[in-house]
Amino acid sequence: MVIRAVAVIGAGTMGAGIAQVCAQAGWDTRLFDSFSESLERGMASIEEFWDKGIELGKTSSDQKSEWMTSLVAASNISDAVDGVDLVVEAVPEKMDLKQKIFRELEEVAPSHAILATNTSGLQISMIAHSTGCPERVIGMHFFNPVPVMPLLEIVEHEGVAPETIEIARLVAEAMGKTSILVRD
Ligand code: NAD
Repeated sequence: MVIRAVAVIGAGTMGAGIAQVCAQAGWDTRLFDSFSESLERGMASIEEFWDKGIELGKTSSDQKSEWMTSLVAASNISDAVDGVDLVVEAVPEKMDLKQKIFRELEEVAPSHAILATNTSGLQISMIAHSTGCPERVIGMHFFNPVPVMPLLEIVEHEGVAPETIEIARLVAEAMGKTSILVRD
């Protein structure tokens, strides 16, 4: 499966960074947050990062414009996931909240999409098995600040499909990250 479009749910510290690296990878990227101020803050922090890159001569304004075109702030979760191949969830570290979001994602995201969580410490299998599609659910644990830190832990669980792990590996590679596979 080729990744063309990605949704990131939660536009805080991690979600904004994840959306940034997705846009930089050239994917059509939608960032969603249930709080409009958080969404605005997340979008602004990405733009600031790119502006700083221009100031430091690390990137060009043409490049920034291209990335900005790829990045959209979505006003609801259904618009965010419309037609995406991958969803990365980065909401607060609460099991019931993540389970609720994954159940919603199962309803509204395309049936082929990989559903990844950035949880630091919650059990992925408990999130995966709250849905009817645990084979598509995986952990993608990024480190802060996401655009800078090279490591991405891919967290497997007993119900995940091998293809989901393989796609997560390819996503990491396309983002320029070094991935390692870790147990739940
Ligand atoms: P954060 O508080 O900065 O961001 C969470 C965002 O989720 C907020 O903007 C909030 O408005 C939004 N949100 C809350 N409920 C929502 C909902 N129902 N739908 C959509 N958005 C919602 O948190 P963070 O530090 O970015 O952490 C997010 C996840 O990443 C957590 O699971 C955390 O454990 C994990 N993580 C954090 C770090 C880190 O260093 N901060 C590192 C690795 C992993």
